[in-house]
Amino acid sequence: MNDNRKQSFDVLVVGSGASGGWASKRLAEAGLKVALLEAGRPQSASNFTEHKPLFELKNRDLAPSIVRKTRPIQSGFDICTEYNYDWFCNDLEEPYTPRRINPFIGWGAYA
Ligand SMILES: Cc1cc2nc3c(=O)[nH]c(=O)nc-3n(C[C@H](O)[C@H](O)[C@H](O)COP(=O)(O)OP(=O)(O)OC[C@H]3O[C@@H](n4cnc5c(N)ncnc54)[C@H](O)[C@@H]3O)c2cc1C
Repeated sequence: MNDNRKQSFDVLVVGSGASGGWASKRLAEAGLKVALLEAGRPQSASNFTEHKPLFELKNRDLAPSIVRKTRPIQSGFDICTEYNYDWFCNDLEEPYTPRRINPFIGWGAYA
């Protein structure tokens, strides 16, 4: 009997983010049989809100305290706004302590 549940792969990539997605693509293009596992929720075009006009946002991006409530550390990045804070980790659910904040660079400010 042919059991379809039994498959073998050359490579197992965990996470289809920027790194995993590209790694999978390149490995598959090189001829390897790749399995890609993703734990995140399904995405659709409606999840991408960064190019909405300001007036379509619930708080017009004028209430940074709402973002800070769940992202007290992440909101230190000036790009973590009402537009996209859902894409940043919830600092309360995934707490961590940065060593220090570098005031001279915004993106990747933790050194
Ligand atoms: C709002 C926002 C805007 C950004 N804009 C830019 C930009 O303009 N330019 C830029 O260079 N960078 C940008 N970045 C940063 C960039 O997105 C990250 O640096 C990059 O995604 C990191 O890649 P990664 O593969 O390490 O992790 P991720 O892209 O986060 O991928 C990790 C993946 O693994 C999955 N995963 C985690 N645990 C498991 C598990 N146990 N099993 C299976 N799957 C799992 C996650 O669901 C996720 O899909 C932005 C980030 C955010 C949040």
